[in-house]
Amino acid sequence: DLTQPVLTLADLPLRPELVGEEPYGAPQLDVPVCLNVNENPYPPSPAVAAEMAEAVVAASFNRYPDREFRGLRAQLAAYLGHGLTPDHVWAANGSNEVMTHVLGAFGGPGRRLLTFTPTYSMYPEYARNTHTDYVTVPRRADFSLDAATVLDAVAAHAPTVVLITTPNNPTGTSTPLAVIEEVLAGTDALVVIDEAYQEFSSTPEATALTLLAEHGNLIVSRTMSKAFAFAGGRLGYLAAHPAVVDACRIIRLPYHLSAQTQAVASVALRHADEMLARVADLRDERDALLRTLPELGYEVVESDANFVLVGRWADRHLAWQQLLDAGVLVRETGPAGFLRVSAGTPEEMAAFHAALARVDAPRT
Ligand code: PMP
Repeated sequence: DLTQPVLTLADLPLRPELVGEEPYGAPQLDVPVCLNVNENPYPPSPAVAAEMAEAVVAASFNRYPDREFRGLRAQLAAYLGHGLTPDHVWAANGSNEVMTHVLGAFGGPGRRLLTFTPTYSMYPEYARNTHTDYVTVPRRADFSLDAATVLDAVAAHAPTVVLITTPNNPTGTSTPLAVIEEVLAGTDALVVIDEAYQEFSSTPEATALTLLAEHGNLIVSRTMSKAFAFAGGRLGYLAAHPAVVDACRIIRLPYHLSAQTQAVASVALRHADEMLARVADLRDERDALLRTLPELGYEVVESDANFVLVGRWADRHLAWQQLLDAGVLVRETGPAGFLRVSAGTPEEMAAFHAALARVDAPRT
């Protein structure tokens, strides 16, 4: 009888640091308009989708996949440019897993990950899961970062890994390349630049990839989940010196990228232009949010990504619920009083504005 005895977590030898923890994740609700996880709302064209389906069938099911996924790494290197080769690229099932590889290799007991808040809420979980200490230092009042703040924090906390997110989630704030360069020159710690939203930046060419040739302690993290419209495909990647890639190759589980993931991501990369075709539209929708929300009396945070923080509400949960009741799911995250809304299709943006007009939760 599998219903007896009733086991609870308290009956199991759970690691002490996991006691009381909840599984991470934004609510996944069946709602007409989902603007909560910064996805690209445009699915692949029927022609690309058909090619993906063919590639899934053609990829082996009975044989293990290519552990080193050289073909995919070559395509990712070509997409990134900047003279990168397959040896400079590593990938996994989302950049979440890539970061877990980085921390598995370079973090661990007695080592520290340093980052700057408010920032992506998964980072403490990567640290916890890899037994790495997690240390945060606040960004400036406007959520920007300067090199002195970073280097002072490095001196104070002696991290093995420094993590800077640009454009930052959930604020959308970009960190200038000059700041990153000064940080790299001022520390021997590994510096991870999480560029998950870089393609949405108004200056996408101002990428930390341009600094790789000069700095062996730099890791640039990217994902196909956002601009590339491939969140369901689960493909994140990094660019770094080949020694960093070798470290990730030690820590990864064998065959972590399925043959089907490799095959479908390869099709997406072959059609990169088409997959990325809506980035400019999404940037425009972001800019429209930044323009129109203040006209309606809302506060926004200047964003270089495909989402905007809007507020401020005295009880943001109430505002979140009222938007949800009107059929629009946004994210309750970020600084107090704000909600984060992803840029969507024109129809989704119209639905968001209509829902917002019905919100009467008091603002501060
Ligand atoms: N980094 C940042 C800053 C993110 O916002 C996200 C997704 N929300 C990720 C990494 C992880 O994305 P994925 O695992 O889908 O590549």
